[in-house]
Amino acid sequence: MTRLTRRAFGLSAASAGLAFAAPATLSAQTQARLVIIGGGFGGASAARYARIAFPNVAVTLIEPKTSFVTCPYGNLLLAGERTLPQITHSYDGLKARGVNVVHDWADGIDATAKTVRLRGRATVAYDKLILSPGIAIRWNAIEGYTEAAAEALPHAWIPGAGEQTTLLRRQLEALPDGGVVGFAIPPNPFRCPPGPYERISLVASYLKRHKPRAKILALDAKDAFSKQGLFQDAWNELYPGLIEWVPLNKDGKVTRVDAQAKIFETELGTRHRVDVGNVIPPQSAAKIAIDAGLTNETGWVPVNPRTFEATRARDIHVIGDANVGQVMPKSGYIANSTSKVAVAAAVAALEGRPAPEPTVYFNTCYSHVGPEYGISVVGVFRPSENGFVETPNSGGVSPRGPLAEQREQRRLEALHADAWYGAITRDAFS
Ligand SMILES: Cc1cc2nc3c(=O)[nH]c(=O)nc-3n(C[C@H](O)[C@H](O)[C@H](O)COP(=O)(O)OP(=O)(O)OC[C@H]3O[C@@H](n4cnc5c(N)ncnc54)[C@H](O)[C@@H]3O)c2cc1C
Repeated sequence: MTRLTRRAFGLSAASAGLAFAAPATLSAQTQARLVIIGGGFGGASAARYARIAFPNVAVTLIEPKTSFVTCPYGNLLLAGERTLPQITHSYDGLKARGVNVVHDWADGIDATAKTVRLRGRATVAYDKLILSPGIAIRWNAIEGYTEAAAEALPHAWIPGAGEQTTLLRRQLEALPDGGVVGFAIPPNPFRCPPGPYERISLVASYLKRHKPRAKILALDAKDAFSKQGLFQDAWNELYPGLIEWVPLNKDGKVTRVDAQAKIFETELGTRHRVDVGNVIPPQSAAKIAIDAGLTNETGWVPVNPRTFEATRARDIHVIGDANVGQVMPKSGYIANSTSKVAVAAAVAALEGRPAPEPTVYFNTCYSHVGPEYGISVVGVFRPSENGFVETPNSGGVSPRGPLAEQREQRRLEALHADAWYGAITRDAFS
């Protein structure tokens, strides 16, 4: 591996247009090449951090979309408290930092030749690849839940350009007062453990203000969930009688949907007719990770917990929701914090150094539950023999107690959540 001058890197960056030309190699240079697939929380954070910490490394980010709509704060959009532009972030900041942003799909990875094949047919060579492609929906894991069905019963769990979240918002606006909003919630593991319950809370907040006779029916494939006590306290205090949560042991698992008739059918055959239906289906790592043979029988990618290198391929580090990651949650926070560890480990390996120590991974998941009402859970994790462990007594949830006593705490946590959103999106995209 030889080093490249800044001028040569500039030329390489400018060659992004080649992605649309006949088969070619994008980077004809020999500077250490870090290629990142996926410009979401993990990938954008990795690209930005790599440019800051390792300015001699050439960084290419492959991402089809020209701007990124975040899942976090999408639930506030559903409640009418954010607009799409407020949760959309451009890649201009990364480009200004010298990241070579290639707007295309990665269609295949050749781990032997160390190349990525783009849909535009160009080939990008790498010394180290960081993969942060997020999740895929497991279509038909719930019978009848297909891509076509998602047009009637949106998942709004992969934002794309915001189409699914906007569709669900429009459906809520059109809901008749007295109608039923149904949620189908998946078993673990899935993207953002508290996300469905934040969504239920914020939809309840919207209904309370605009459709006070409407109800929520939340059918869950689990018996317990993240921040459960805090959420249920808030539901009782803020939205009494509005939300019915049905756990697995009360026949809450949805196994079949009829998208046209808007029917959720459970394991024991109970059929629930809803007016608006949000299906949050079972998930796996994104297609590119599966196609590259990186996933195991769980559908997620096993990784070395210190370096995030995939156990099934050398020089490919997999971060964010796509890796097995347990017991860490699949969160934007974890994707961001682990991205830096993965980049540092990848560059260290290229330079013949051991991966940096110590390795500790932090997470805080905030949830908005209503106006000026925020709650959170904190976790600190470490690598272990078989994956990740939570450090004992390292985290915890917001204090419980009657709203009258906790009002100031809840108000502050809502402000902290807003500050977190601003900070993490700057840390990824600016
Ligand atoms: C409703 C909701 C609320 C949430 N709230 C929070 C929260 O408050 N806090 C929190 O920490 N987390 C939250 N999350 C979770 C968070 O969104 C995810 O954990 C995070 O986005 C994971 O980052 P990632 O990089 O793995 O994937 P993503 O952020 O989804 O990024 C993946 C990117 O890869 C791209 N991609 C996929 N395949 C390819 C390919 N073949 N070629 C090129 N590019 C590709 C995609 O276009 C996408 O831009 C929430 C999630 C949801 C659904």
